[in-house]
This record gives sequence, C-alpha cells and structure tokens, in this order.
Amino acid sequence: LDPKTFAAESRPVIDFLSGYYRDVDKYAVRSAAAEPGRIRTLLPDTPPEHGDPVDVILEDVRRHIVPELTHWQSPNFFAYFPMNASTAGFAGEMLSTGLNVVPFAWAASPAATELEGVVVDWMCKLVGLPDRFLFSGGGGGVLHGSTCEAVVCTLAAARDRALSRLGHEAILRLVVYASDQSHSTFQKGARIIGIPPSNFRVIPTSAASGYGLTADSVQGVVEADVASGLVPLYLCATIGTTGVGAVDPVRQLGEVTRRHGMWLHVDAAYAGSALICPEFQDCIDGAELADSVSMNPHKWFLTNMDCCCLWVASPALLTSALSSNPEYLNNVSEGGADQVIDYKDWQIALSRPFRAMKLWVVLRRYGAAGMRAYIRRHVEMAKWFERTVSADERFEVVTPRRFSLVAFRLRPRHEGDHHAVDAMNRKLLVAINASGRVFMTHFVVDNKFVVRMAVGGAMTQMRHVQDAWELVKEKAKEVGALPTE
Ligand code: PLP
Repeated sequence: LDPKTFAAESRPVIDFLSGYYRDVDKYAVRSAAAEPGRIRTLLPDTPPEHGDPVDVILEDVRRHIVPELTHWQSPNFFAYFPMNASTAGFAGEMLSTGLNVVPFAWAASPAATELEGVVVDWMCKLVGLPDRFLFSGGGGGVLHGSTCEAVVCTLAAARDRALSRLGHEAILRLVVYASDQSHSTFQKGARIIGIPPSNFRVIPTSAASGYGLTADSVQGVVEADVASGLVPLYLCATIGTTGVGAVDPVRQLGEVTRRHGMWLHVDAAYAGSALICPEFQDCIDGAELADSVSMNPHKWFLTNMDCCCLWVASPALLTSALSSNPEYLNNVSEGGADQVIDYKDWQIALSRPFRAMKLWVVLRRYGAAGMRAYIRRHVEMAKWFERTVSADERFEVVTPRRFSLVAFRLRPRHEGDHHAVDAMNRKLLVAINASGRVFMTHFVVDNKFVVRMAVGGAMTQMRHVQDAWELVKEKAKEVGALPTE
C-alpha cells in the first residue's frame, strides 16, 4: 500500500459516490434491466492478468453494475426496512476499513476493543436499557454484523446454561418460543444450535393484541410443554416486528420467562433506534427481566452496513458458550481473560472489523439530539402517510402504526371477497414497483396481503412520501379499485 497511490485512487471513488448520491433519486429504485445471469455475460470469464487502472474499473461499475442495482439509498426506497448510509457512517467506515485492524482479542487491538466497550455502553444508555446491560452493571455489549448472528450466540448461551444443569442428553427436551410475527432467524438459530425442529414453538398472535404476544398465550404453551416433560429454554420478544412493526410486552413476557427459568431475548433490530426518543421508551419497559437485547444501527441509525449491538446481562454465559483458546492465540491475551475483553469469545467468527469506529463517528457527529430529530422526522412522515391512507375510503391501515412502518391495503368492497381483494393488492404492489418510482414490499398478516411502506431512508423527505402516495392512488385506479368520487 503506497500512501500516495492510496490518496490518489481514493479520491475518484469518493467523487464517484458523491455523484451517485446526487443522482440516486433518478434511477428506477428497482432495476428494470436486471436479469438473472446478465452481469456474467458482460464481464470476462477470468480476472485480468495485469491490474486495471481505477478509472477503468469505476467506468465498469458505472456501466455494468449501477444500472442493475436495487438502490437501497434512494429516497424512494420504502421496502423491507431501511439500511441507512450517512456521511458520518461512511467516514467511520473509511476509518475502520482504512486502519483495518482486527480486534478479536484485547491485545490484538487494544484501542479498538476499548472503544467498542465505550460505544456499546453509550448506545445502552441512549436506548434506555437498564444498568445491568452496562459493563459497570455486570453486563456488557458487543458489535456483531447482524441480528441473526447475535441470536445464534444468545441461543448457544441459553442452551449451555440449561445443559450444564440438566446434562447434555437434555438437548432433545429444550424448547424455543417465538411468535408468528418473530423474525425467521429465531427458527434458523434454534436449528443451528441443535434444538429439534419439533421443539420450536410458533405462538399465534392476533389483531386484538396488535399482533404482539400476550403473557397468557406464552404461559399456556410453556405449561403444556412442561407438563409433557419438555424444558422451556428461550423466548424471543420483538419490539417492532418485521411484518407490521408489532411490539411484544416485554415486562409481562419477562415475568413468564423468569417463572420458568427461561432466557428472554429482546429483538429490537429495526425499532431499537426509535427507543432513543422518550416517547417510545414504554416499549422497552421490563427490559430488566431480559437476558439479552439486540438492535441494528445499520437499519435506522445512520450507520452503514454492518452493525448490530448485542447486550447481555451476563457476559460469562455468552463467553462460556463461545470461547476458544487455541495455542496460536494465547500470546495475544496476556492481560488475562478476567481483566480484558477478548471479543472473539462474544461472537462466532474470530476475525472481525473495527465496527466501533463507525458507530462512534456517527454518535459523535450527529449527537443524541441529532439522532432523535432524525428518527422523529421519519415518524412524522409515516404518521402523515397513515392519516392520509386512513382518510381514503378505498384503503385501510391494517394495524396501527407504531414507528415509521405503515401496513396498508385496498379494502374489500364486499364481505367475503377475500381472494379478490388479495389479488387486487398483489396487482397494486406489482404496478407500484414496476413504475420504478418507488420500491415497497409486502407481508401477509391474518391471511391478508398487505403493502408495507417502511419510511426511514437517510435521504427521504416528506415530498418523497407524498409522491409515493400519489403513485399508490394512480396505480390503484389502474388495477381497478373503485374511485372515491
Ligand atoms: N429481527 C427483525 C425484527 C428484523 O426486522 C430483521 C431484519 O429486518 C432481523 C431480525 C434480521 O436482522 P439482520 O439482517 O441484521 O440479521
């Protein structure tokens, strides 16, 4: 790495990206050109024998790659959940990737490990978690790449805690619980850690509880399992479910899990960012009863991919499930496991990026007040969208909005035309996305096909949300929804 070449070749990349962000709203949000296998036909079969200049490479990115991307950073991207990019997130990522240190053990990069401890504590306080998740309170946090990874680690910790008491053979009796709205990662994670597939319980939710779990429903399923000799292990509570943004009542669920010696994980992957605003703090009430909590700054917290905060009340449970001490790493832990953190023991992989730098730069650059204002802006946009959809009698908001996600659909015109209304909403979503002007995705709740409008793009402003509504109305007419007049 030659420092002069490094500077000279980085500048055109920054210029390229700044041009991309200037023009990103001009691209079809989801590429109309993309076809399976097409990129392969545009590129050589083998890498070049001799390196290409950076401007030639950038030209290929411009010509071949950009036109076939889905533009997640477009202000008109309302699909899935947002994946924020920001100037500070990028600056932090540049510093992290530029320094390219690997903080798997304290001695492998002391400042990176220490900074990670500081940043996860800052986030813990901002999100309003109880002190037991702070290092000073006996808990602690780590930055993973994804919630999926965090979930597998907490499941492994819960499993080992139970098996150390019951013996290894008991693994076939352990049961993991989630709701029909929980993210699929819990089922996958349970499979990975060896829970028999028949011991994964999906507890139904309903419109009556806003698609959140109730303590009674969990209690009933858990008691039935206990009565048949099974061992309740782990419950996932979600703040802001992926489909409709539902919130599970953490306190009530925590009381159930405490009674049965279960592990309670709170998944706030998306809505965790909103918890920094006092008006959303009620959602996390009861967090002192949880064993672990996770949220993704890479979703709605202006932090470029990837970054997931995981906090645990008892780090020793996590590290006893995940630690390994091969000889070739012994020399890097001379501080002793008790005095320093070796983050390799808090995650699956050994090598890991310097994510703390990225999140630290975001927090420093925007500050807590800046982040609260950012979140509130999106919530206001979503409120406007919810109000406007509700005021149009052709449409309905399917479940009350909690954060910045609005799940809506064209209403049935008559009792019993369930299939017809689903088909019409499918057609509506296809027409909306085919326009290239926005990208939205769908969900099915209570057997209803609903369109999800997930507001939260870093470049999204009110006018983009208003334009999206105009487009929805235009396409509703095209697919044959009755006019309001
Ligand atoms: N949990 C919830 C509630 C989510 O919405 C998502 C992703 O959208 C995940 C977990 C998975 O997150 P990740 O992609 O970081 O694994």
